[in-house]
Amino acid sequence: RKRVVRVSTGSKQWDAILNGGFQSMSISEVYGEFRCGKTQLCHTMSVIAQLPKDMGGAEGKVAYIDTEGTFRPERIVQIAERFGVDPEQAQENISYARALNSEHQWELLNTLSMSFATNEYRLLIIDSIMACFRVDYCGRGELSERQQKLNQFLSKLNQMAEEFNICVLMTNQVQSDPGASALFAGADGRKPVGGHVLAHASATRILLRKGRGEERVAKIQDSPDCPEREATYIITNGGIND
Ligand code: ATP
Ligand code: MG
Repeated sequence: RKRVVRVSTGSKQWDAILNGGFQSMSISEVYGEFRCGKTQLCHTMSVIAQLPKDMGGAEGKVAYIDTEGTFRPERIVQIAERFGVDPEQAQENISYARALNSEHQWELLNTLSMSFATNEYRLLIIDSIMACFRVDYCGRGELSERQQKLNQFLSKLNQMAEEFNICVLMTNQVQSDPGASALFAGADGRKPVGGHVLAHASATRILLRKGRGEERVAKIQDSPDCPEREATYIITNGGIND
């Protein structure tokens, strides 16, 4: 029987509210306004997932689907140095792919389901889940088709998370129109895009926001096993930290 593994965020406080980190066998979603650290978290966890268990890792390889073109190998090098691991090796253990559109994103996922069969992978990053879908289905009349395709993608994602014991971390954007709907409203009316389909697929949902000074705040909005607590973190050269 497969056992759930956890991957540390790089911040002790953040890990504490998650009982040790983001878990495998389900989908986790972090959402929030620009520059709150979503992409930095993706980079940080891509290195940590490779580390031994006593360092918060899962001793696994990482697959990284980048839909916004914001992956930076130099950041992986800096984060690897923080944890004292070989930067070359850290980069080699990350299978990177840039998704050009939602169809391509779907194809990449199917390709990964074959790679995952080797049982070497423990983390799949999707930064961000909605960017391609929002561009490809931007008309009002296309919303139901978008949600249908999104649902197909997320079902496959959940199935892969369970079958291959993968921690799936996806980032999401927030609705720019705060008055659009009261549904899914976060602490300050910020709500993730993707509607019910996405809300249903993500087992764990975390809202990120800017705090005082350089501080950022992560707040659990939905979790199968953790209460709705908050943690502060900062972004450093070595990635997410306390
Ligand atoms: P978006 O919604 O635009 O994708 P995001 O939530 O992904 O935003 P990130 O790109 O993760 O945001 O975070 C950007 C922030 O990270 C900026 O405030 C930037 O100053 C900070 N940052 C980036 N690199 C470093 C570094 N090496 N050291 C400290 N802070 C950094
Ligand atoms: Mg980003």
